[in-house]
Amino acid sequence: MALKGLDIFKLTPKSNCKECGVPTCMAFSMKVAQGAIDISKCPHLSEDALAKLSEATAPLMKTLSIGAGEAEHKLGGETVLYRHEKKFVSRDLFAVTVNAQNFDEKWAETEKIDYERIGERMYVELLDLEYTGDVAAYAELAAKAKGTGRTLIIDTTDAEAARAALEVVAETKPLLNGANAENTEEFVALAKEFKVVLGVQGEDLDAIYDTIKAIEGKGYKDLVIDLGSASIKSAFENAVRVRRGALKGGDRSLGYPSIVNVAELAPGDLHMQQALASLFTVKYGSIVVLEQMTYAMALPLYGLRQNIYTDPQKPMTVEPGVYAINGADENAVCCTTVDFALTYFVVSGELERSGVPVNLIISDAGGYSVLTAWAAGKLSAGSISKFIADQGIDEKIKNHTLIIPGKVAVLKGELEQKLPDWKIVVAPNEATDLVKFLKDYAAA
Ligand code: SF4
Repeated sequence: MALKGLDIFKLTPKSNCKECGVPTCMAFSMKVAQGAIDISKCPHLSEDALAKLSEATAPLMKTLSIGAGEAEHKLGGETVLYRHEKKFVSRDLFAVTVNAQNFDEKWAETEKIDYERIGERMYVELLDLEYTGDVAAYAELAAKAKGTGRTLIIDTTDAEAARAALEVVAETKPLLNGANAENTEEFVALAKEFKVVLGVQGEDLDAIYDTIKAIEGKGYKDLVIDLGSASIKSAFENAVRVRRGALKGGDRSLGYPSIVNVAELAPGDLHMQQALASLFTVKYGSIVVLEQMTYAMALPLYGLRQNIYTDPQKPMTVEPGVYAINGADENAVCCTTVDFALTYFVVSGELERSGVPVNLIISDAGGYSVLTAWAAGKLSAGSISKFIADQGIDEKIKNHTLIIPGKVAVLKGELEQKLPDWKIVVAPNEATDLVKFLKDYAAA
């Protein structure tokens, strides 16, 4: 359980020396309890007190990483139950389950799902390696799966099969998901030997909890909780109980990321699997394993995830700057819009489709859409002309034609005054009309 201010106070020297920057040890303790100051700010804590406090003031949910190099992913580290309270930290990851018999066919379908949405790559991050009873075939499957570059889940409760796969892929830092009450000893030894995160399973949450305690007792705490596949109801209950137990109950033995296999919860029913994947994206799956991922499933699912795992207090923006589209050089026309990510990607997508080289100028507009930025004074003739001057765009780009969004046509006159050697052109109101507009403009 998290320590309260008074518990922390009992471990301080109570000398009120102020070296921590706080007037009294009591005030310091209260701030530590709130997470407002780090315990290391007090230089006079004994080693014993420091050890106790470090443990007690550690985050309630552990942050772990699986995968290596470009395929490394963070799991956990969440601090709130609801996104509106603060933000969710580590987006959930999607896995497709494969086995020795269906690997080639499944992978050929899975690798097709790879696209970008608002600057984020959307693809199946993990492959879940299902064990079908043949150790040699499982090691072969692991070797093939390693060649995909995706992060792997070694999904077996069989220690011999787990070892065979780990020997092939350990350096890719897979998740080993298969520790339970019967194999705890062997799986903890494997996790320690190959330095991998260990998934903990059980017939219900009580059994899982007992196994977690046993594993923690052996000094291993890089764990993921398997929410189980007894029924949809129990998996969902487990998801909520685990997250609440950690963040509200302060029970660090529940403060681990989770994995849920919706392929086992709704075998053969891709519609239900997609619905469940959406459910566990919202509450509280860290890894969601599906039988398959198709574009029809991916488009809404990844869109949902992207929305859930953005900070609700910060607009999504792109970096201000000049983006050369379709190989634009200094002779290409310029176009401008706001730095709100959704607007940027819609506009840049249409510009790309036109095939016309364009320098897209993005100034800092506070992350608002065009009309909101204009109404808030973030997008004005002054802000655009200042950005052009500050960035030296006058000198860098010879073609002084600037296309402005149709919705702020009102800026044309003032821009012509502020940028006298520029030709200001008003674009259509809708981004979808940009392709024809630019093609016509280039042809004229
Ligand atoms: S530095 Fe330590 S001993 Fe001094 S006031 Fe702060 S908490 Fe108390």
